[in-house]
Amino acid sequence: MRYGVFGDIHGNLEALNAVIGDMTAQAVDVHVCTGDIVGYGANPSECLSRVREIASIVIAGNHDHAVAEKLSIDFFNAYAREAVIWTRRQITGEERDYLYGLPLVHQDEVFTVVHGTLNYPQMFDYIQTSYDAYLSLELLKTPVCFLGHSHVPVTFYQADSIDMTLENVIEIKEGMKYLVNVGSVGQPRDENPLASYAVFDSDTMIVEIRRVDYEIETASRKIIEANLPPILAERLFYGR
Ligand code: ZN
Repeated sequence: MRYGVFGDIHGNLEALNAVIGDMTAQAVDVHVCTGDIVGYGANPSECLSRVREIASIVIAGNHDHAVAEKLSIDFFNAYAREAVIWTRRQITGEERDYLYGLPLVHQDEVFTVVHGTLNYPQMFDYIQTSYDAYLSLELLKTPVCFLGHSHVPVTFYQADSIDMTLENVIEIKEGMKYLVNVGSVGQPRDENPLASYAVFDSDTMIVEIRRVDYEIETASRKIIEANLPPILAERLFYGR
């Protein structure tokens, strides 16, 4: 089975459509969303429709739950807060209920999915250090967990000790556990503006982080036209 694992779309329809096109070219069978469908970008409803059409597994991101008023925006920065409030006005009541009802964690026989961390997933913390990774790896029951949130594709893995890698191809080896951050579709922050997602082949047990070009100018212009904070439009060109 080939899984397309993607998230942190943040209302960027141009990036989402480009990634969906690449997933089709990659013969993806199952689409898995790691959360943050909305927030920051100008097309929250359109992105929700696309994700709901294709993805059979979707979990909640902090922006999804904040827009649905399930999570407080007190800990959001000023731009994120403004975008959450703007997004609340754009979506329908039915879409809000959908976001509200998204689960925090998905786990099956093959893999686990969470937006931030497996320990206290409702807190939406970041995995940035080996200790952060340890806290999630300790709770991980499957060989691999896919996540997002930081918008930086990076893999933490545990054999005897905990290590990290920025490699784009990761082989899931037996007896080891992996936390794979698939990066961000709609607002990459690793100084590479290309949309980021992962293809996971459960037969070969190989994860590939893929980068996809999209019409950044269009996505950026829509953010300006929507009167969202201009920095949200500018940062797309720099991937940070
Ligand atoms: Zn995000």
